[in-house]
Amino acid sequence: MDKQLPTFGRYLKRKFKTRVQKLPIGLSGFTCPNIDGTVAKGGCTFCLNESFSPNLSQDAKITLNLNSTKNPLLKQQLKELDLQIRSTQKAMKKQGIKKFLIYFQSFTNTYAPFETIKTLYEKALSYPDVIGLSIGTRSDSVSDEVYDYLAYLSKEKEIWIEFGVQSTFDETLKKINRGHNTLNAKEAILKAKSKGLNVCAHLIFGLPEESKDMMLQSVKEVYSWGVDSIKYHPLYVVKNTQLANEFKNGKFIPLSKEEYADVLKAAIELKPKHITIQRITAGINDNTLLAPDWCGWNKNKMMAFLTKELTK
Ligand code: SF4
Repeated sequence: MDKQLPTFGRYLKRKFKTRVQKLPIGLSGFTCPNIDGTVAKGGCTFCLNESFSPNLSQDAKITLNLNSTKNPLLKQQLKELDLQIRSTQKAMKKQGIKKFLIYFQSFTNTYAPFETIKTLYEKALSYPDVIGLSIGTRSDSVSDEVYDYLAYLSKEKEIWIEFGVQSTFDETLKKINRGHNTLNAKEAILKAKSKGLNVCAHLIFGLPEESKDMMLQSVKEVYSWGVDSIKYHPLYVVKNTQLANEFKNGKFIPLSKEEYADVLKAAIELKPKHITIQRITAGINDNTLLAPDWCGWNKNKMMAFLTKELTK
């Protein structure tokens, strides 16, 4: 990528004077209100839920939600957390990485009893060389108690909250069965900002029936909400999802790599300088991918292509 782009890695390196890497975590028991029936069933049309965490214990039939009062999985979750942090830290340290930002990535990581959230986040922060947390969640799943707790942690630690916005067109959000609307995403981001939290928003390019203009309108709107960081993703089709049916019936056509690079370039050009970039693409390198084939490219090939397009 262009050396001048304000990537998240550069931001962390400048702030902590060393390489800091996000360390992804996925724990049994976490689910999503868009899957468990609270908001909807089945989830977003592109989401193959097991694909997030294929190695998790199958014991994870017990799932947590905001109304759970007890958590019979807590002991197991703490064990998984410990294993994942220790093994990934060991591997990353061999690559010269000295500090870590623990990234609660899979499913909706604030959708659990408050005591569970507090215990897991505090445990994650207790490991050596951990400088903070990044919490991936949905805009409809953060209680005031959690906002306040994250704000409290942010006095001492680097605390980020990540919201999947995807699009600011409500008709698109309905088409992908997102389960929340644009106003909900905007209000959550404004609230997180008002609490002093760092916010990263996720956007998807190539959502059903969206034009380039619509994608760039979403981009501009999300920038205007005061986010600190951004992740751009192309929409790709995974087998055994609703989107796979739409693709097979000819109702969904994914972006070509050139179309994606074109909208990505425009999105970066529109971006205020202070917003850091955490991701410029995404893909899946296994046989669950249906289309487009370029989303199955390995990371180096994908980055080489995008770098060439972005620097044109
Ligand atoms: S919000 Fe995330 S976990 Fe939930 S259904 Fe959508 S993509 Fe899947």
